[in-house]
Amino acid sequence: MKTTVLITRYGGLGDLIMILPTLQGLKRQYPKAKFVLRTYKDYVGYVDHLFDQTILDDNQYLKYPFESGWKEIGNATEFAETGQRVLHINLQGVIESRSDVHGVIAFRQEAGVTGKGVEVHLPLPFEVNRQNVTVVQLRDDKDGRGLTKNDLPQCLQQRDDVIWLDSLLTPKDYLRTIAQAQTFIGPDSSGLHLASALGVPEIVGLYSPEFPPAIRAYPNVKAFTLKYEFQKELSVMYAEKSATCPICTESAVEKREIYWMCPSCDAWFQHPMPVKKFEAQEEKGADGRSNGHNQSEADLEASARLASCFAHNWISRVRTEGPAKTLDIGCKYPYFAYTLQKLGMESYGIDGMDFDADQTPILSRYSEELGVPMLMVDFEKVTPWQILNNTDSKKRFDAISMVHVFEHMYDPYAALKTIHELLNPEGYFLIRVPSHEVPGMEWHMSERHYSIHPFYYSEQAMKTLMKTSGLFKIVETYPMGAGTRDYILKPV
Ligand SMILES: [Zn+2]
Repeated sequence: MKTTVLITRYGGLGDLIMILPTLQGLKRQYPKAKFVLRTYKDYVGYVDHLFDQTILDDNQYLKYPFESGWKEIGNATEFAETGQRVLHINLQGVIESRSDVHGVIAFRQEAGVTGKGVEVHLPLPFEVNRQNVTVVQLRDDKDGRGLTKNDLPQCLQQRDDVIWLDSLLTPKDYLRTIAQAQTFIGPDSSGLHLASALGVPEIVGLYSPEFPPAIRAYPNVKAFTLKYEFQKELSVMYAEKSATCPICTESAVEKREIYWMCPSCDAWFQHPMPVKKFEAQEEKGADGRSNGHNQSEADLEASARLASCFAHNWISRVRTEGPAKTLDIGCKYPYFAYTLQKLGMESYGIDGMDFDADQTPILSRYSEELGVPMLMVDFEKVTPWQILNNTDSKKRFDAISMVHVFEHMYDPYAALKTIHELLNPEGYFLIRVPSHEVPGMEWHMSERHYSIHPFYYSEQAMKTLMKTSGLFKIVETYPMGAGTRDYILKPV
């Protein structure tokens, strides 16, 4: 005798998804049966996209769609054709919370489906690429449960990577929109169910007190009943999902390692900033003290070469009375300043590393060793006046340099302002920094560097910084090896 399996469940889209494992189980148990699913007509379009045609033969689920509301469900004889038996699987009234996964296990048990397989996973009949976007559904399409924009924290309302889900979308677009999300936020239930079944990585749901998460829990959904808890969770999530660029004030949402990448000016920055240190732990000697004198011959030679080029190509252009006066900021072992001094200049170094009393002798020793006067202070904490007053001639500097130092500045605008005040208006300012668009940047991407570099710049980021500051213009820039770039700057 031929068998027709009639499945009745008038629930919404979530229910359709939840009975999918039941349909699959029944199909295995009754391989030759004909299947008919009774559900609301509103969901017919989704069934088309969701259900494997081998489970429900073409259009069979269209046969008895109900307009709305509850109808009597007891009578299955109308489905029987001559010589057929009707097996009615009535899932109406099955209490969904009877099992750990909302509905899925309960439906299978009610239908007498044996074997395992309670996972709900929906393969889509079209390709979707996951985007780094948040999809927000404000209103559940059927029963009016929903959210308002005010239920969401401000930081989320203002983001431009949020897609507001329009319930008037076609089934295909509805599925596609949810499937591409990195994060889904919505009220219980259809969108949440779809997001979960489609494997959206982060899902946050606001439930109603009538149907709390305890009844309608769904896998991988962070569920809240209280609005303030829901808001709090989202605030925390989104505080970690974006940061304001200190260079151009745009909002950054993408990260590379621990750096936010500004989509507007291209700066990379840490947020929150690391605790200020002058050296990474690895740069210190076994006794925990500064190890800056341990520069290799090659490092010293590179330092001397850069200083000579700067002197010949740029400092030589500055008209000065007497010898040119120079300052190397963040000099550590002051070999750069020493080279300029050998070329006849009045040169100074400044470094704040280990500037506490205990460590001062090390810096003093560097200073004595090379005969370069050094100011042992944190450059970001002193005034131009304090610096100038501690130099012999008290006049402004004709050249200032920061070699692998500018990326250590916590407030680059303040640093530029100080330098601008220190510099002869005709003078030059040299910066050598890691530049993330220059090949070899990987060398700067390690924990050791992260602990001391609040920023990484690129040429574009540097241009934005200089333009916004209104203090300097770039007169020359060129990429160097190992992911670095040089800039020659002039006061505006
Ligand atoms: Zn920016």
